[in-house]
Amino acid sequence: MTRILILTTGGTIASVQSPDGLVPGITGEQLLAYLPQIGPDIDIEIRSLFHIDSTDMQPEHWVGMAEAIRDHYDSYDGFVICHGTDTMAYTAAVLSYLIRDSEKPIVLTGAQRPIGFEITDAKSNLQDSILYAADSRSRGVQIVFAGKVIAGTRARKVRSMSYAAFASINLPEIALINNGQIVRYLTDEAFCKPGGSGSTSGGAYQRQASFCTEIDPNVFLLKLTPGMKPDLLREIFRLYDAIVIESFGAGGIPQSLEQTLFEELRKYRPEEKVLAMTTQVTYEGSHLETYEVGRRIADAFQILEARDMTLEAAMAKLMWILADRDQSWEEIRRRFYEPVALDILTA
Ligand code: ASP
Repeated sequence: MTRILILTTGGTIASVQSPDGLVPGITGEQLLAYLPQIGPDIDIEIRSLFHIDSTDMQPEHWVGMAEAIRDHYDSYDGFVICHGTDTMAYTAAVLSYLIRDSEKPIVLTGAQRPIGFEITDAKSNLQDSILYAADSRSRGVQIVFAGKVIAGTRARKVRSMSYAAFASINLPEIALINNGQIVRYLTDEAFCKPGGSGSTSGGAYQRQASFCTEIDPNVFLLKLTPGMKPDLLREIFRLYDAIVIESFGAGGIPQSLEQTLFEELRKYRPEEKVLAMTTQVTYEGSHLETYEVGRRIADAFQILEARDMTLEAAMAKLMWILADRDQSWEEIRRRFYEPVALDILTA
């Protein structure tokens, strides 16, 4: 018997219509009652963690999810987290760093329409997620949605209303699921490397998941727009430990912001205020070395570049890395570029 634990957090999948709009209102047990027929060899248990629209997702909720998986890890073969779609990509990225080398699958799913609606994607998403979580070849953190299996470090919500809400950014999907068949494009080996933390027993390598339940939430994402006021930068540097700048195109800093940004950067050591550059263009990543506007900052300061990582993954990775405040710049840099769960290919 394969044992699956479903953790519910709210979101559209568990929402009901109220006079003020959709609101999470279905309990775990009610959700379970809607579940389509699952094979007789799968045993499902359900637990409610929170009851929120994922717009209200906070760093403490991420830690709560990681702790729940850790606490039940040995009792189940796979996990499904029902989650609102709006911030699911952030949660999937954070959990990819907090739960590493997991030989068991941790699947996030949700829906664009509530499970109680006559026309809904909720049942098929849930069914596919359970199928994927129960498959012995699945491992690590992934999103299963609208027939796609997307690495937790590579997801982005790209549609606000229609069913195909998520895309895999700068990496093919891990698998597709169609009519109960899983077609795998990428091996899940990358989510659980032999030779990580583990021990040998009887000649076979026993992989062991490692859990981290601390993060530094003080990571800011700044989307550049033409005409942005430079004084904003001073306040961001004061309040945050790391700043991810979502630049234009291949990457660069406009001259109008450069003086203030450089003044702020000179006040701190690179490990005190970490600056990472990414791009607001969805596909193909940043390439700071291409233009003078990018090279000027890359040559003058110790900064990080997200390259082909998603901005969600870059932010989540910094929150995970900076949970340890006593690291040298070299160590922060090394960890940022070290691939985790397929998050970066161009390191
Ligand atoms: N606002 C909802 C949420 O993220 C949207 C959804 O679940 O599709 O919780």
